[in-house]
Amino acid sequence: MKYFHRDITIHLGATCLATLDANRQRTRFHREIGGQLFAQFVDSSLVVERATCVKGVRSRFSFLPHRGEEQREIDALFRQGLHYVGDWHTHPEGTPTPSGSDRTKMLEIFQQSKHQLPYMLMAIAGLEAFPDGLFLGVVEAGQIVQLWPRT
Ligand SMILES: [Zn+2]
Repeated sequence: MKYFHRDITIHLGATCLATLDANRQRTRFHREIGGQLFAQFVDSSLVVERATCVKGVRSRFSFLPHRGEEQREIDALFRQGLHYVGDWHTHPEGTPTPSGSDRTKMLEIFQQSKHQLPYMLMAIAGLEAFPDGLFLGVVEAGQIVQLWPRT
């Protein structure tokens, strides 16, 4: 799926989408899971190639990733030419939107991490099939802006 933001095309690649889709909670009894998003910069596009699953403390409504493991993953994938560009997780709702704590957490991560982009991505996979069940937002200084897929 393709999105645009600030003159950059953002592609969610097939492998990344397959991981998000496979981890949709599907029923209200599944627990939240999440991980990181990794991309390559190709001309003026950002191609999100990979969504990883980070082990963490899971419950139905929250996901607390293990920060040490995340940093090891960032270092390992950087050696393969993939850049950390954001995070994803699942929600037990049809059309997902970020919670208050999701927003707070992502704005904190944005402030604390080193990245080459002027923003980071935040994806949330809900219960509905994509694209309805997928939230994609950009995290910028002080705000999270929702993006809509383009055809
Ligand atoms: Zn959430």
